[in-house]
Amino acid sequence: MRYLITGGAGFVGSHLAEALLQRDHEVSVIDDLSTGTIRNIRHLADNPRFRYVIDTVANRALLAELVDDADVIYHLAAAVGVKLIVESPVRTIETNIKLTELVLEMAQKKKRPVFIASTSECYGKSTDFPFREEGDLVLGPSSKGRWSYACSKLIDEFLAIAYHRERGLPTVVGRLFNTVGPRQTGQYGMVVPTFVRQALAGQPVTVFGDGLQSRCFTHVSDAVRALIGIMERPEAYGQVYNIGNTEEVSILDLAQRVIARANSKSAIEFVPYERAYQPGFEDMSRRVPDVSRIGQLIGWQPTVQLDQILQDVIDWCRQSAA
Ligand code: UDP
Repeated sequence: MRYLITGGAGFVGSHLAEALLQRDHEVSVIDDLSTGTIRNIRHLADNPRFRYVIDTVANRALLAELVDDADVIYHLAAAVGVKLIVESPVRTIETNIKLTELVLEMAQKKKRPVFIASTSECYGKSTDFPFREEGDLVLGPSSKGRWSYACSKLIDEFLAIAYHRERGLPTVVGRLFNTVGPRQTGQYGMVVPTFVRQALAGQPVTVFGDGLQSRCFTHVSDAVRALIGIMERPEAYGQVYNIGNTEEVSILDLAQRVIARANSKSAIEFVPYERAYQPGFEDMSRRVPDVSRIGQLIGWQPTVQLDQILQDVIDWCRQSAA
């Protein structure tokens, strides 16, 4: 099979490309390197079944050609990371909505199945745990930039579902929950690579708020296995799937575990949210997925638990710093 991955030089995209190549598929990647990096795919460049184009998905003629040459499309190109979103809301909204519109439009012309990457951020402040795909979504006001990410991704979801229902396009939405692993950069605010780098450098580990907020961290290899499995099943078309680990950890506990695993002497520094982000910043106190829907579809379950995830990220950071 021939796969096209938009955002394929990014963290998740590069792991997906690697996994598809390992399964003997052909992979094309388009990435403008706005948050991705060529380092993520350099090791794939010699593979004759791999090719990459450094350009924006907004290049219609190029996108049309790439879609034409693909059997399945993974649309992962997006603005991600709370820091980036809070600092550059225009870029977030425009990138996330315009590019998805374009990918769906092009895919429709050729009737190519499309996976649209969405996010657990869509559940917002819901307290209906664990989060089910049919559960209500609870977002904050438009005056708070953070919510633009969830809203822009929800528009993507609505579009994907509408293309399926109205026009018969095979589309699938995956809501990824705090996906982490080697190659993820802390540059855009993600907590695990940030804590690991701080701990390895002996710098204070910056816990925002009181650290009692919790998350479930998914290893990228588990997420990629879900992405591949989902697109092999036509029953998935028109559906939304949670993709996430169910092992919950508070951010304070996470900081302590990172420090211990990295054999670090770092102290924990509590940073008020308004200093970390912006005055009035709203965080989610918990975020836990219900993954029974994807379990029923392909028997998927997360397999890599938090300690192993942290060890992988620590090992990778040590190697990449060496
Ligand atoms: N966080 C933190 N210190 C950091 C970065 C993030 O305490 O240096 C917290 C953040 O406030 C949130 C959690 O870690 O409660 C996860 O943040 P991330 O940006 O990785 O993902 P989110 O779940 O917010 O999308």
